[in-house]
Amino acid sequence: MTTLRGIPASAGFAIGQAFMYYDIEFPPIPHYTVGPSDAPAQWRRMEEAVSASAAKVQSQIDHLSPDKDKVQFDMLTVHLLMLHDPDFLDQVKERLFGHGENIEWAVWSVAQTMVQRLMESGDAYLRERAVDIADMADTLVRRLLSIEEVSLADLSEEVIVVTNDLMPSQALAMNRDFVKGIVMAAGSYTSHTAILCRAFGIPAVVGLPEALKTIEKGEVLSIDGGSGEVVVNPGVEKKKAVRLAMKVYAREREALSALRDVKAVTQDGKEILLKANMQIAQEIGAVFDYGADGVGLFRSEFLFLTPGEPMAEDRQAAIYTDVIKAAHGKSVVIRTSDVGGDKVLPNLFPREEKNPLLGCRAVRFSFAMPELFKAQLRAILRASAHGDIRVMFPMISGVDEMNKALGYLEECKAELRSKGIAFNDHMKAGSMIEIPSAALTADILAKKCDFFSIGTNDLMQYTLAIDRGNERVSYLADPRHPAFLRLIKMTVTAGHEANIPVSICGETGGDPALVPLLVGLGVDELSMAAAQIPLVKKAIREVRFCDCEALAEELLCR
Ligand code: PEP
Ligand code: MG
Repeated sequence: MTTLRGIPASAGFAIGQAFMYYDIEFPPIPHYTVGPSDAPAQWRRMEEAVSASAAKVQSQIDHLSPDKDKVQFDMLTVHLLMLHDPDFLDQVKERLFGHGENIEWAVWSVAQTMVQRLMESGDAYLRERAVDIADMADTLVRRLLSIEEVSLADLSEEVIVVTNDLMPSQALAMNRDFVKGIVMAAGSYTSHTAILCRAFGIPAVVGLPEALKTIEKGEVLSIDGGSGEVVVNPGVEKKKAVRLAMKVYAREREALSALRDVKAVTQDGKEILLKANMQIAQEIGAVFDYGADGVGLFRSEFLFLTPGEPMAEDRQAAIYTDVIKAAHGKSVVIRTSDVGGDKVLPNLFPREEKNPLLGCRAVRFSFAMPELFKAQLRAILRASAHGDIRVMFPMISGVDEMNKALGYLEECKAELRSKGIAFNDHMKAGSMIEIPSAALTADILAKKCDFFSIGTNDLMQYTLAIDRGNERVSYLADPRHPAFLRLIKMTVTAGHEANIPVSICGETGGDPALVPLLVGLGVDELSMAAAQIPLVKKAIREVRFCDCEALAEELLCR
């Protein structure tokens, strides 16, 4: 029995067998010149890759029901057609035989050109085909480079996944019915995969590089996602203790449900609204079971990271409408897509970004892809006809970007108006405050916003220069750092002077231990993983606002 300790990322206990998942990184694609005598052999490899890929797609199709699995069925059928598309194959052939480009490079370049052209078109259908082409090229190049694919979507028995790192898109794709727990070498509490684990209620321990050296396939593990403990080959006594802890944990959660319908009010009468963060639309059902006052953050980008979820405006409008209709008359803040950073849109995102967290992320990506952005804004507006939907823009650095985002919103309103499509003309629009420059100019920004929501995960990352996904520097993340607290305080003060509410929607907002401090800084709302709401509510009901203010005052000047 060996005990390891990592970063606690998602509370809960699990006992199960280790499933070692090594994601095989996409290497740089080789680029070299092929002489006329070698070209035919390369083309034969291409033909083999096409027919093997087609056989795999066909067998996936054979296992689906055209009615029940319609989205996946349609997507795979399109993939199959594309693999045999004569135009695509002719262009690849021309690059190989005509220009002497090696086959992997030829496939990749032709696909990239097609993707780029389709993405720039104003047609939603064509943009979706761009995703399919990129996917197909990915599959072909992997096969040509003999990169074997293992998919967590194919899990068929209960396991604890042990892995180096998991991209959020992979976490979304895994078969959650069979993932009892996750142990990851990389990552920190605020990395997006950790956020997803909490949303899915999967116990997880991250930032544990020893896991890969110590754990072998099939070994029994017990994990405690609340303390970060991972035990390899636990003995009988340890297993008994973990099973008991599982029962106690379930009972404690049960007891907290008594707080569902009471308000989060301090002992001296200050009420804080507690809202839920959502990553996928299906979470809406559970959100209100925890007593949420609304949805403070719907991370819409996960919609696009989910395999088979199209980005078409109509589909998005339908999803947002379903969400708001299920919100019991409460408000839902939809954040426009925050792709980039660690949330890479498979295939469509430029792979070559050296510093993705400082790169083309969030509104920067949206501004670079105005048609995608506008399709999302129109979809949000259309859903706003059905309830209190609010829109929020991520990674706003200052008032110019807010003006630009609002400009697109106005354009979309005009387009809908001209077509006679209903929407709420007074839909509230707010900014995330997650870049220090936004907090420092919050007084100017506030004049353009209906609300602020502080993204403490990124605000911490960008203020203290700590990559939020890097376990080697995660020990530096300090939510009590005066620089961080001062930026929050500045934002709250600016928001209140402009009469707009200020929320926190980063992970600190769901940490009961930080509640007195955040309340003392004057925030109006906290938004968090829904399961945290009862814990945070309990913490708020136990304190006095005046004590919280004194604590905040002290720490601001520490
Ligand atoms: C944040 O940065 O705190 C936030 C809520 O956004 P995300 O975690 O999705 O970057
Ligand atoms: Mg953020």
